[in-house]
Amino acid sequence: MTDSFVAPPQTDRPVRARLAPSPTGALHLGNARSFLLAWLSARQQGGEVYLRIEDIDSPRVKPESVRQTIEDLRWLGLDWDQSDLQRDEEPTLQSGRMPRFLEVLEELIQAGRLYVCRCSRKDVAEAASAPHDTALPALEGDVYPGTCRDACLKPELLEKYAWRWKFADAKMHWTDRLRGLQQANPARQLGDYVIAKFQNGVLVPAYQLAVVVDDYDQGITEVVRGDDLISSTYRQLAILKHLNWAPPNYIHVPLVIGPDSRRLAKRHGDTRLAFFREAGIRAESIVGYLAHSIGLIDQRADVTAQELVGELDWEKVSTEPTVFEFEREYPGLN
Ligand SMILES: [Zn+2]
Repeated sequence: MTDSFVAPPQTDRPVRARLAPSPTGALHLGNARSFLLAWLSARQQGGEVYLRIEDIDSPRVKPESVRQTIEDLRWLGLDWDQSDLQRDEEPTLQSGRMPRFLEVLEELIQAGRLYVCRCSRKDVAEAASAPHDTALPALEGDVYPGTCRDACLKPELLEKYAWRWKFADAKMHWTDRLRGLQQANPARQLGDYVIAKFQNGVLVPAYQLAVVVDDYDQGITEVVRGDDLISSTYRQLAILKHLNWAPPNYIHVPLVIGPDSRRLAKRHGDTRLAFFREAGIRAESIVGYLAHSIGLIDQRADVTAQELVGELDWEKVSTEPTVFEFEREYPGLN
């Protein structure tokens, strides 16, 4: 097994972070905290913030949900220097950048980095359940076993198929600003992944490709996001490395979870920012809770996002998930 080295990110570019909400659900405490950290990190380095609306996986997003998301971010006290917003505040959605994504996809196809896969979801699940290498455990979900990898299938316009990225069978490593050295063999621990899908007569690039192209085109130098995306970083770095594009700094922050240790969801009560706002809770209270919950301030206090600029020290930020209990934090509210 050879060691594929991923170059360290360039640090000589001006700092630019992004807030990249997907407007499929309202902002809740968990993603709000990741956005707050992304914004704080950029601002205290004197950097810029870019607002991007990530709707690639859900192109039929309603304009109201986009507006709601923007309103939530502003209520929290976050601002941005550039965005996908036009003058009338209607965002140019990520789905509007399809031609650019398809251009990069074509480049990857021509370079032989992708192959056609006709496996159904069920095929993948069945094949993945067969015994495999236990020394290299799966990083998430089912590992695609490479059924179509050497089949040299041609894309057929009338059929359902996907383009998959072909990982080299090699260890990859990179450094997370918060978690340190990360290493894995993505070919074995993640499996080749879908980078575009042909469905309903059109080729649709996957989030993994769109995010890489957007980060590059928008000059993003720092990506702060939930640690559920750590394994995606291997996928994105593989594309970046092939294109010879400088990777951003990655910082994966812990999630907010419910008392049952599961990711925050409806069953844990209504944790949407809009709910708190409508219930008369001030933004300073929420920002204070978020900052305290991740170790930015020692005592729970009402504070604005702006007042926290300068308080973010990654050495002090916890890597453990935060348990949110409604009755403890906001008794009687939900
Ligand atoms: Zn396949």
